[in-house]
Amino acid sequence: MSAIRREGREIKRLRLLIPTFTCIPGCSDCCGPVPFSHWEWEKISDQRKATCLDCPYDGEAGCEIYEDRPIMCRLFGTVDHPQLRCPHGRGPEKMLTAQEGAAIADQYAKLVGGYRNDELVEHLRAGHGGSDASGSR
Ligand code: SF4
Ligand code: SF4
Repeated sequence: MSAIRREGREIKRLRLLIPTFTCIPGCSDCCGPVPFSHWEWEKISDQRKATCLDCPYDGEAGCEIYEDRPIMCRLFGTVDHPQLRCPHGRGPEKMLTAQEGAAIADQYAKLVGGYRNDELVEHLRAGHGGSDASGSR
């Protein structure tokens, strides 16, 4: 099996670990430039590079690649951590713990060559939960 297919299998497995929830329609308040793994990037037919602090897929009606959005977008709003909670209070019935979020982010970081969100992973690992719900990115 090729490296990219192996990576795709891993990404699909990580996706299944992340609970889903319904966002406010059209909202993209937590969006910004995000990293893609090679496999995730290959799935995007209209590849646009970020040239500023906005995500190039943040459209008028929300995310334009919602079904193919990368793992970090899927994690946002699902982890019980100030940096990853939805500023509008949306989220799944059962949030991931900071440690569960860290484990997923860490596995993902290893797949994404060159990208390591070490600071976030370390925060999550340390379980810096707190009660500040204003976290956004
Ligand atoms: S997680 Fe919250 S801030 Fe982000 S798009 Fe959904 S509703 Fe908006
Ligand atoms: S890919 Fe979609 S969900 Fe992720 S930051 Fe961009 S617009 Fe937001």
